[in-house]
Amino acid sequence: MTFRLTRIDDRFALVDANGGWHDLDRLASGMDQSVLPEASMLHELSGSLDASPADGTLAEALADGRVGVPVPTPRNSLAVGLNYGDHAAESNIDAPTSPLVFTKFPSCIVAGDSDVHLNAEHADWEVELVVVIGSETRNVSAGDAWSHVFGLTIGQDISDRALQFAAKPPHFDLGKSRDTYGPMGPVVVSTDGFTDHTDLAITCDINGERQQDGRTSEMLFDVPALIEYLSGILTLMPGDVIFTGTPSGVGAAQTPPRFLRAGDVITSTIEGIGTITNRCV
Ligand code: ZN
Repeated sequence: MTFRLTRIDDRFALVDANGGWHDLDRLASGMDQSVLPEASMLHELSGSLDASPADGTLAEALADGRVGVPVPTPRNSLAVGLNYGDHAAESNIDAPTSPLVFTKFPSCIVAGDSDVHLNAEHADWEVELVVVIGSETRNVSAGDAWSHVFGLTIGQDISDRALQFAAKPPHFDLGKSRDTYGPMGPVVVSTDGFTDHTDLAITCDINGERQQDGRTSEMLFDVPALIEYLSGILTLMPGDVIFTGTPSGVGAAQTPPRFLRAGDVITSTIEGIGTITNRCV
């Protein structure tokens, strides 16, 4: 049974098909709130959610600011640049022939609906599918890769373009890792929760105006290819996350370039997962 995991008041919760949330510790007492739960347990518990009353609705919890990052702080938080051909083209950079990987330092990751503290003149938006790793993953082939995925969530790879390209050659890490530049959430959905988890509509609106509109099937290096590549270099651990790149439509590529300003509202949506909304301050 599909699970939808979130965290409410810093505690794990499962979200049912009607949008109600259930405190995980009430369903399975003795939860370690600092460690990613076993996917097998979540699949099983999700089958019995209808039998217990919900503790509230996710929508209310979001409105009340009670929803946090859906997984504990990842040990590693990796991201992939230029992973959609149309975004590479709009950036006037040749499409990479091997994955272009950088770090979003875990300290930049905040709850899905958090405010983004701009702190820079050239902050830009990038909606991304985020993969959460579910088990120790080392030297895994593409064919086995999905079995190591805990679930999928929505991320914003907010990018300070000036800082990203301040050095030559450019270093992406710092420009992508300012505090609050990694909103993620609101739920992690297990891969059996989609009609086709390899082909999801992905969009980003600024102040209600559509900027990005793509499909995750357009990735140059798909999720299995990324996991095969990365796990051949470093061991991925439960709770590690991979931001998988963004489709075209970022602000820096517009004429003239457009950057985020205080008061702007970023709305990022992925089919089958939901929406995150970030206010720029
Ligand atoms: Zn990105």
